[in-house]
Order: sequence, then structure tokens, then C-alpha cells
Amino acid sequence: MIKIAIIGASASGHTLALNLRENNKDCSITLISEEDSPFYDRRLLLELLAGRIKEEELLKFKEDSYTKENIDFIKNKRVASLNIHKKSLQLKTKDVINYDFLVVCSGRRHILPEITGVKKTGVFNLYSLADFREFMNYFISDTVCIAGTGDLAVNIAGIIASKNKEVKLISAQDMSGFNLPAGIKVINSEIVEIIGESVVQAVKFKEGKIIACHSVVFMDKKEGSIDFLKGTNVELFQGFIAVDGFGETNCQGIYACGSVAGRKSETVKDKDWDEVITESIRLSEHLSGVLKV
Ligand SMILES: Cc1cc2nc3c(=O)[nH]c(=O)nc-3n(C[C@H](O)[C@H](O)[C@H](O)COP(=O)(O)OP(=O)(O)OC[C@H]3O[C@@H](n4cnc5c(N)ncnc54)[C@H](O)[C@@H]3O)c2cc1C
Repeated sequence: MIKIAIIGASASGHTLALNLRENNKDCSITLISEEDSPFYDRRLLLELLAGRIKEEELLKFKEDSYTKENIDFIKNKRVASLNIHKKSLQLKTKDVINYDFLVVCSGRRHILPEITGVKKTGVFNLYSLADFREFMNYFISDTVCIAGTGDLAVNIAGIIASKNKEVKLISAQDMSGFNLPAGIKVINSEIVEIIGESVVQAVKFKEGKIIACHSVVFMDKKEGSIDFLKGTNVELFQGFIAVDGFGETNCQGIYACGSVAGRKSETVKDKDWDEVITESIRLSEHLSGVLKV
């Protein structure tokens, strides 16, 4: 039986697994997620933060439905490395999973900068449901610094400010083009140090100025979640996994799909949710054809 392994069970991996199963009853499909929740709509995390929806409304698929679809869903397990020659991947727990075809759907996320104090309690980057849960539980402090320039940072700042918190948006770029929600103060600088015993008490800017602050959210720099490719020859292009028009990488039998993947011939950019779903359906159709040969 042909074995397909998929890394990541969000918009891309989940859609791919279900569509593949619909057209291929005979292959084995293993869907691996480092998160502890089954598929949920990441787009709704800001609605959750704003208190406009409850967690249940975000969850779009019951875990036992994977069993009904004959998909082996492995949650809470992080893929640590690949052995391309042996066609296997190793989880952080050291378990090994063999595959005939591998699809990397591991996404892109904001990363924490490598600055002093970044591991202190009160420093966040908001990507997963678990991150938002943790932030919302911690969210009792008065001043929140948000480092970031894009719409996501601005929207998060707006939600927090609407809860009567003092919000400082830290950006090295000019933010005058943004229609900033009320109550947000922009500081044109860069955080170079987080100060505090074990929890955040202040941040230091590159000019040397220090301001008191109780939590810091980094929504600035983004990277593909691809550390498990270290030591392999899977080709990257501007930080994305380089794929051809069918989603295949330079390594035969290894595909990449969704926000982690980019075509070498195009200007690579972040993909929105709907684009990722469309791409995953297209890849499932292609792979179904390959499996039938
Ligand atoms: C807070 C937030 C709000 C957003 N709002 C919108 C919106 O309103 N509209 C919109 O169009 N888009 C929005 N986006 C972007 C949208 O969520 C992405 O386009 C989409 O989620 C990309 O899907 P994906 O499956 O490619 O990757 P992701 O959703 O990033 O999923 C990748 C999955 O792989 C897992 N993974 C990574 N590495 C490993 C590993 N080594 N082992 C196992 N699992 C791994 C990750 O934990 C994750 O679950 C938002 C994103 C965020 C973070």
C-alpha cells in the first residue's frame, strides 16, 4: 500500500488529506500536527481574542472524524528531521514514520528575535490557538508592546486597545499609511532587549530609551517552519520551499503546499487562507493522478 505522509494539519495539510482520501481509498495517509487541536480556522483567532466568538466556534473538524476517513492523525508531535534516502521522517519523540510520498504543509509563522530577555514570561508571538490561549490567560497587564508593521499587528493592537489597555505599536517603518485604531501609540524604533527578573517589566529600544511594559508581542519577521529540512538537499527559494507547477520539490516524491511553498518563477509572497485551500485541492488532484499510474 502506498504511504503518504503530510506534515502540518492546518488549511493546507487538512484539506489535502481529506481530498486525497476522497479520491484514493487504498493509500495510507498519515497527517502529523505539532498542535494539540485538530483542524481549526486560524483566521478566527482574532475574533476569539476580541471575545466575539468562543473556542468551539473555531474548531472545524472533530478529531474522531479522521478515524472515520481512515486518516491516521498524529497530534502534538513535531517532525524533527527527514531521511530522504530512507524515505522516512523522525518525530521529536524519536518515532520514525516511513512514506512513499511526503507533502510538507508546515506553514510560515512570526518568529521571536534573538535579543536578550526574549525567553522571559510575557513575551509572545501569536500564531496558534495555544499561543492565543496563553496570551489571553496572561492578558492582565496594563501596557502591551506590539512589534510589527503589517495588518495583523495593527488589528491585534486595535483589539487589545479596545480592552482599555495601553498599547504601543513598535515599528521601524513609517505607519502613517495605516488607519490606526484609537488608543494606539506608535514608536518608530526597534526593541533590542527585554528587561525584567523572570517576567517582562520593560523594553529597551535601539536608541537606548527604556519604557515600562508588561507584555510584548512580536508580529514582525516571518519564517517558514522548515527546520526539519536541515541536512537535506530540498531546495529553498527566498525562504520558501521551491516547488514546480505541480507542487513538487527538487527531490522526487517530496511535495510542498500552502504558505510554506513558493514557485521559483514567481515573486513569492504570503498566501491567504483561500489561496492555500485552492492550492491544496489542486495538489490532491495531481497526486491522485500520480497514484493511479
Ligand atoms: C493570527 C492569524 C490570523 C490570520 N487571519 C487571516 C485572515 O483573516 N484571512 C486570511 O486569508 N488569512 C489569515 N491568516 C493567514 C492564514 O492563516 C494562512 O494563510 C493559512 O493558515 C496558511 O495555511 P497553511 O496550512 O499553509 O499553514 P499554517 O496554517 O501555518 O499551518 C501549518 C501547520 O503545520 C504545523 N507544523 C509546522 N511545523 C511542524 C512540524 N515540524 N511538525 C508538525 N507540524 C508542524 C504548524 O503548527 C501548523 O499547524 C492569518 C494567520 C494568523 C497567524
